[in-house]
Order: sequence, then C-alpha cells, then structure tokens
Amino acid sequence: MPAEFEIAGHLEVRDGHLHIGDVDCVELAERFGTPLYVSNEQRIRQNIRTIQRAFPEAHLLYAVKANGNLAILRIVAQEGMGADVFSAGELYLALLARIPREKILFNGNSKSDHDLLAAVESGVMVSVDSEMEAERLSSIAHEHGSEVRIAFRVNPDISPMTHPNIATGLRSSKFGIPHEHVRRAYELAQSLPGIVPVGIHCHIGSQILSTEPFAEAVRRMMTLVEQVGELGIELEFVDIGSGLGIPYDKRVPAPSPSDLARAVLPIFREECERLGISPTLCLEPGRYVVADSTVLLVRVNTIKHAHASFVAVDAGFNLLVRPVMYDAYHHVVVANKADAPAAQKYTIVGPICESGDILAKDRWLPAIERGDVLAVLDTGAYGFSMSSQYNGRPRCAEVLVSNGRAELIRRAEGVDDLLANQLLPERLL
Ligand SMILES: *Cc1c(COP(=O)(O)O)cnc(C)c1O
Repeated sequence: MPAEFEIAGHLEVRDGHLHIGDVDCVELAERFGTPLYVSNEQRIRQNIRTIQRAFPEAHLLYAVKANGNLAILRIVAQEGMGADVFSAGELYLALLARIPREKILFNGNSKSDHDLLAAVESGVMVSVDSEMEAERLSSIAHEHGSEVRIAFRVNPDISPMTHPNIATGLRSSKFGIPHEHVRRAYELAQSLPGIVPVGIHCHIGSQILSTEPFAEAVRRMMTLVEQVGELGIELEFVDIGSGLGIPYDKRVPAPSPSDLARAVLPIFREECERLGISPTLCLEPGRYVVADSTVLLVRVNTIKHAHASFVAVDAGFNLLVRPVMYDAYHHVVVANKADAPAAQKYTIVGPICESGDILAKDRWLPAIERGDVLAVLDTGAYGFSMSSQYNGRPRCAEVLVSNGRAELIRRAEGVDDLLANQLLPERLL
C-alpha cells in the first residue's frame, strides 16, 4: 500500500518527503532536532471553522487539556472560541491567551479552595460537580462579594462505546451528579448566596465514533432541563461537552461535525420548542480542534530483528502516552521515504525502560534505516499535554508551521529542567 494512500488533509508527500503546512518534515527534524512536535496553524483554524459551520448558533469552548500551548490557545481565541478549563493552571493559560472570561467554564471533580477562589476572582463560570462543591463555592463567592454563574456537571448515565479509560458519562464514572439528584442540586443552588445556576453540563467521554450516544445524551439532558425549569429556573445554556472522535485509523471512519449536528440539533430544537425555551447549546471540542493538526517527528536510533523487527526511536510514552494508555492507534509515516513502497512489518518502540513502551505495532513500512525520520500522525491532542520527564528525559520542543514558515513555540527542555525544582539538603552535599 503506497503511503500517500493513507495520508489525509493538510499533509502531503513531495519529492518523497512528508510535508506539513508546506514545510518539509525532514528539514524540520534537521533544523530543530528530534523528537519534535509540529503543529499546522491553518489546520487548527480550518477545524474550528468546520465545527462553527456545523453549529452556527452554538457556543464553542475549547478543551484546554487537549493542547495547552499558548500559541495554540491564541489561535483558538482569535477564532472566537471560549475555553473549558480543568485547573487553575489551565485557567491561567486561557486568560493569558486572552480568551474572554465570560466564555470560560471552570470544570473539575475535585477543585481545591484555591481553585474555587481562582474561579471567583477571575469571574469565570464554574461547572459544579457535587452538592458539597456548590456549598463550598457559595461560601467562597459570598465572602468575596461576588456572584458566580454556575452549571452542574451531570452524569447522564450513557455508554459512549469508547475506551473505558475515556468513558466519562457512565453511571459508575467519577464525574458529575447522578441525574436523579439534579432537581435537588438546582434547588440547593437556588437557595445559596453567591452562586446563580445558569446552565447544565455533561461530557460523556472522548474519541466517540458514533453519533448515537450524543443524541441520547441530548435527549437525557433536555429532560433534566425540563425538571430544572419546573423549579422556575430558565437555563441559559445546555453544554453537551464533546468527545467527537477523529479517524486516527483511516479504515475506521469517524462522524464529522456536521454528522454530529444532524444527530443532535433536531432533538435539541424540538425539545426547546416543546418546553418553550431558547437556551444556547454549548460544545467543548478538544481533540477535533487540534489532533490532526500535529505530527510528532522522531528519529530512528537503532533497528533490531528479533521476534519482531523493532525500530527504536527517540520518543516513547514519555512524549506520547496514548498508545500505551488507551491502546490508541497513530498512523506512522517514514517522513524521508514517504512515497516508497512498504517493504516489511515493523514495531516502533520508544527509549523508555518499560516493555510496554510501544508507539506502533506491526506496521507495514518502507525499509527503515538508522537515522530515518518517522512522523507519528494526529498527535496534536493529548500528546504533549500528557507528556512527562519519566526516565530523566527532558520534554521536546514544539514548532508551529504557518504558510510555509516554521516557528518555535516551545523550547526543548534540557537537563536543567530535570533539576529545576529539586533541592539537595546540605547534609547530603
Ligand atoms: C476532555 C473534555 C472535553 C474534550 O473532549 P474531546 O474528546 O477532546 O473533544 C470536553 N469537556 C470536558 C468536560 C472534558 O473533560
């Protein structure tokens, strides 16, 4: 199978080399070194506009956890998206990227008092995950003399048919209040000072490849909106989170944003009409915005023909944990032999001292030699943002390409960064 058969979108093969955003990946590997994350600005903008076109009336909040690089957050802000943040750190980054505070929702199932105070002080909305959290937020906001707009994160009890580690809306999940407690929770919020219930929120999981669970979630959410309405609360927004999958493996199709819109908008509109209300629909795409905008470039250190043909490269689950954590598929291209025919089956492994450190298993690729540059595709979401320094490996650099230009958006760490906050007690000197 020729490699270009499976390469989609903004990537192309020219003179045998893989290009991203008109820039040669092999040259990028030379110039910036490997491993290296490379993101394409135009692709991110395109992805956002695709969702905006599918949901012209919805408010879109970018899930910062997918990729929190400041340059990428600035692009998201310029395209008019709000943000879904999960910590005071992500909140700080979103505000620094000049995402307007009224478009930020502070989410999380275990917020500290410090987190809640940060939310109150910055004037963002809060997605409250429990009745106890409503009480805690109320007293912090009240003491501060503020009024915080809140939604409750609801557990809609829906199976999204995705990997168990990223199914978040199951009855057994740690997220959200059980849907049968929703009325009670809003009643409580109504009675508490300092918080105003204005929305309702759910998020059923991630990398979901069918629209049915989303339709089911919207149906369930609208019955809850009705219950809340019976308390005299007219909600301003219904936030259905995200989880829209992407076709990591081109043989497994994923629904597009317009497929999603076709599945959920008629239900949403019909229910709004039935209830005589007009809340705003919110979505929180993370993966769809950034995943396919980015490649991880790695270089081949060594090749070993053992019970499999192992290609050992300079990045493993320290920089891309998805294959290990979620059994995820990422397509791999030999960037300097991108139009060469497949020659044999390889297993691509990282340098980490764990036998599970496998990036890609049993892939048909062109004959690989030491020094070749491999591109791991679709690594813009939950790639760098989930990276670590495990095994004493400083994190790599990130580059943004835009119309044929490449700029560093994060320097590679060095050994100094391994020591950054370590302190050696004097007696051990
Ligand atoms: C992670 C997360 C998202 C983003 O999910 P994707 O699958 O990346 O689109 C949105 N909302 C919440 C609450 C999340 O936790």
